[in-house]
Amino acid sequence: MTKANSTTDETIEAGAVCIVKHWLDAPKIDENTLADDLTRHFYYTLGRDKVGESHLYLYNALALTIRDRLVARCRATRQHLHKQKTRQAAYLSLEFLMGRALGNALLNLDMTDSSRAALSEYCTSLERVAEAEHDAGLGNGGLGRLAACFLDSCASLGLPVMGYGIRYEYGMFNQSIDNGHQIEQPDNWLREGHPWELSAPEQAVRIKFFGHVEIYKDKNGREHRAWVGTQDVLAVPYDVPVPGYRNEVVNTLRLWKSEATDEFDLSEFNAGSYSEAVARKNLAEQITMVLYPNDASENGKELRLRQQYFLSSASLQDILRTWVSRYGEDFSDFAQYHVFQLNDTHPSIAVAELMRLLLDEYELDWDAAWQITSTTMAYTNHTLLPEALERWSVPLFAKLLPRLLEIIYEINARFLAEVALHWPGDHDKQRQLSIIEEGPVQHVRMAYLAIVGSFSVNGVAALHTELLKQGLFNDFYQLWPQKFNNKTNGVTPRRWLAHCNPGLSQLIGSKIGANWVADFSQISKLRDLAGDKAFQQQWREVKQANKQRLAAFVKARTGVEFDVGMLFDVQVKRIHEYKRQLLNVLHVIHLYDRIVRGDVEQFVPRCVLFGGKAAPGYYMAKKIIKLINNVADVINKDPRCEQLLKVAFVPNYNVSAMEVICPATDLSEQISTAGKEASGTGNMKFMMNGAITIGTLDGANIEIRDAVGAENFFLFGAKAEQVEEIKRHYNPSQLIAADEDLARVMALLECGHFNLFEPHLFDDIIAAIRSPNDPWLVAYDFPSYVQQQQHAALLYHDQDAWTRMSILNTAASGIFSSDRTIQQYSDEIWRLTPM
Ligand SMILES: *Cc1c(COP(=O)(O)O)cnc(C)c1O
Repeated sequence: MTKANSTTDETIEAGAVCIVKHWLDAPKIDENTLADDLTRHFYYTLGRDKVGESHLYLYNALALTIRDRLVARCRATRQHLHKQKTRQAAYLSLEFLMGRALGNALLNLDMTDSSRAALSEYCTSLERVAEAEHDAGLGNGGLGRLAACFLDSCASLGLPVMGYGIRYEYGMFNQSIDNGHQIEQPDNWLREGHPWELSAPEQAVRIKFFGHVEIYKDKNGREHRAWVGTQDVLAVPYDVPVPGYRNEVVNTLRLWKSEATDEFDLSEFNAGSYSEAVARKNLAEQITMVLYPNDASENGKELRLRQQYFLSSASLQDILRTWVSRYGEDFSDFAQYHVFQLNDTHPSIAVAELMRLLLDEYELDWDAAWQITSTTMAYTNHTLLPEALERWSVPLFAKLLPRLLEIIYEINARFLAEVALHWPGDHDKQRQLSIIEEGPVQHVRMAYLAIVGSFSVNGVAALHTELLKQGLFNDFYQLWPQKFNNKTNGVTPRRWLAHCNPGLSQLIGSKIGANWVADFSQISKLRDLAGDKAFQQQWREVKQANKQRLAAFVKARTGVEFDVGMLFDVQVKRIHEYKRQLLNVLHVIHLYDRIVRGDVEQFVPRCVLFGGKAAPGYYMAKKIIKLINNVADVINKDPRCEQLLKVAFVPNYNVSAMEVICPATDLSEQISTAGKEASGTGNMKFMMNGAITIGTLDGANIEIRDAVGAENFFLFGAKAEQVEEIKRHYNPSQLIAADEDLARVMALLECGHFNLFEPHLFDDIIAAIRSPNDPWLVAYDFPSYVQQQQHAALLYHDQDAWTRMSILNTAASGIFSSDRTIQQYSDEIWRLTPM
């Protein structure tokens, strides 16, 4: 206050200096003041004096207390980057499946104990307070969670990487189960506020839609294009801090929200339609209203293309604006300092948008603009499924983004000239490789745009990258072999071991020290302890406690009582035919059939857990959920199964649920049809937490098995290279007749045993299994799956042998840290220097 009184005109003029000085005098923010700050935020910022049932305000007060500390470090990180010209990466993704932020921030800042102490005055636990936070569910599944793990690893490795995404008002829907059916409810995750974000409305950028293109000449007679008559929306940034693990670095995830511009439609305004003119502004805010809940399939809606362009344009404009403010409109060395990683084809319109900004806004010529674009863009492919390959109709493009369509045509024309040189006279090649797909309606092939415009194209596991090179993108591989590379996915060991499994973390720390959290390659030191009987006993005790925690979770959400003495067999992931939850259900029915017919010698009691969301428009996936629930109902009600088999479908599988599930799992189900799962990352979380995998040779399962050794992995099923041959003469009904177990399972399904009062409910599922065109080969893989399940069960009998395998799995999981993945992105694609 004395400062304010002593302010003179002189100090006001030196405003900037004044702010910095203020900062030096800012109250100390450290561990000792944490309890005081918590109280101050609770009583004053939030104006509360009672804790309340939900702990919401206490959570918010703690989050604000922690955010203060993040803001300080975030500023320091930014200033460090501004001091020198540093090469930096931008990770563009339509999805960031962040989950909760509090526990992760406390771990990374080493403030868990001090927060616990501060909360003790409020007579509650940190765990209860943390429960009040809503998951940030801004993603569907693996792809979005990968982006979140990558941000943690980038910050923890001290790499200058900024995440760019969309601040969806509604994230991934909340799933409940009603009479076995999936019910979708909107996820209004912002309703109670989001204390981690800081908005920066002064940094809003303008995004154009519709309109048309005009040609004009500048005073030197050079021709230019102007995209005019557009309907603009504003992109307003909301910044979320991303703390590194105990290294003082705090990076930023910038999420864009769409808002209306303040221009009123004057004619409407003058006609007295003031309210109507204002109401129409809702259209602008629709763009970031909701996340599309489709995993591994496109949906083709115009609004989705708007979202993609909105994110791409806002993020590129943001980066170019910063560049121009620092270095002026000289882009000659821009590509030396910037790289853009495209998370799947969703943001691939960025290729054309960067061209547009450089050509139209900054007046570079084509060659200079293309030189920059094609040396700064890098593309990650996430799937081989044809239904996921994005194509946008040319008429839609022409209407919504006319200038971008022009640019895409020009990129394509120049590209096809290159194709013609490489394959002279081969017009088929030109047609096959064209970014524009011909047909009754032309389409833009977004993956091809991404490949043509990028200097790097990567797959996400060794097998997946090979299949891209030899199959889907083979022509491109022949043209540009040097672009193609593999980056096997990973998951962050902070969230997925240190945070979610404190019991195991402590045990590990007591044996090999705590450095594994920052350097996960050290986890291999556990190998030498795998045979140590005392350690095995401790390992089992931790697993047992985690199973207790999961059993309580399952009981609270489903009413089903899991017995922690049984084997916990878990499949949680999006529901999709290629992931084959159906194969797992058939095995469950087989176990039920064994119990009913009294074949229970050497039967290992199991609790089978399912979880996952189906896209709301995915008919078969929803049927599979219903089947799982009906089968669970029959089994859980049958007294013969009481001590032997339990089945539950846990609703609303999300990041926070996985944090309870993976530490308690014994057997991890990774059973996709070979060649269909690009990588998987759930498989890695389970492995880190000591689960043993039963799986096919698909995605990263192959690398998991290589790392842990074939003897510590339950392998079954057709191999990717056999799948096409099997399909050629596939006769599932013959296979069913030839396998007694499968025949009995099918008979139970077909007689309506699981849908006694709902006739024909599962006819489509039965038909799919029996179809000679079943692309997922469920019947083919059933016998070897059952055999490996039996092998796993017998091994579980020998608890010492099982525990040893469990320890060896954790010990071999070092390479599946996203720190390793990000180090490779940095070394081989981004070429960044740590801060
Ligand atoms: C890890 C994770 C996924 C990905 O699981 P996959 O088994 O690799 O498909 C999906 N959803 C959530 C919530 C996750 O944590």
